[in-house]
Amino acid sequence: MENKFRQVQENYAHIQAAIAEAADKSGRRPEEIAFMAVTKTVAPELVNCAVDCGIQLLGENRVQEYQSKKDAYRQGIPVDFIGTLQSNKVKYLIGQVRIIQSVNKLSLAQEIERCAARQNLKQDILLEVNIGGEDSKSGMLPESLPALLEEISQMPHVHVCGLMTIPPRTDDTRFLEAMQELFLQTKELQIPDTEMKILSMGMSDDYVRAIRYGSNLVRIGSALFGARNYQK
Ligand SMILES: *Cc1c(COP(=O)(O)O)cnc(C)c1O
Repeated sequence: MENKFRQVQENYAHIQAAIAEAADKSGRRPEEIAFMAVTKTVAPELVNCAVDCGIQLLGENRVQEYQSKKDAYRQGIPVDFIGTLQSNKVKYLIGQVRIIQSVNKLSLAQEIERCAARQNLKQDILLEVNIGGEDSKSGMLPESLPALLEEISQMPHVHVCGLMTIPPRTDDTRFLEAMQELFLQTKELQIPDTEMKILSMGMSDDYVRAIRYGSNLVRIGSALFGARNYQK
């Protein structure tokens, strides 16, 4: 077997074991943590290799790349959208992806509502939170979350099922902790027609720590597929 496939198998086994250990340490079962394979720049045959290893969820960053690759993926595997999304591309995702995780502002939720209404379906979304308040990142600020959630929850064709974040790159766990707290506080608001069941937090560098702070969906790219090559 080609080397790159064997490498993905090894990486998968290693990450799966680390997830299981982290889950165990935080008193949860490994099955409670979703392991998403982030597929940007990765060839479909390598993505399928990960699926054959046991991956049950894919994450896509770019609408065009997703469209050009999706037919080559193993059929039936759910895909979430996790990238920066422009309103004019929303229509290509509605009813196609399981969850749009990267809803970072009200106007984007409004466009999802419009497109989902047209197709007469309800689109699951996560709200993306800029937990570090960084200028370089998009996402809703923690302090504006309750009001935005209140407003989005009233959209009949949008269903909020949790939060997503890309915390600042640091070994300091205070942002993970802040995110866990925000998730629990938001759950306690018990806003009608919203569910706080998914906390999407943790990437290749910090997934073990993120699980310790309550994440139940980790999004992993380079630790599974190797370093990304954007040239291709
Ligand atoms: C690329 C990406 C990831 C995966 O990043 P790695 O560090 O390669 O694991 C996770 N989440 C989002 C939103 C991404 O864009």
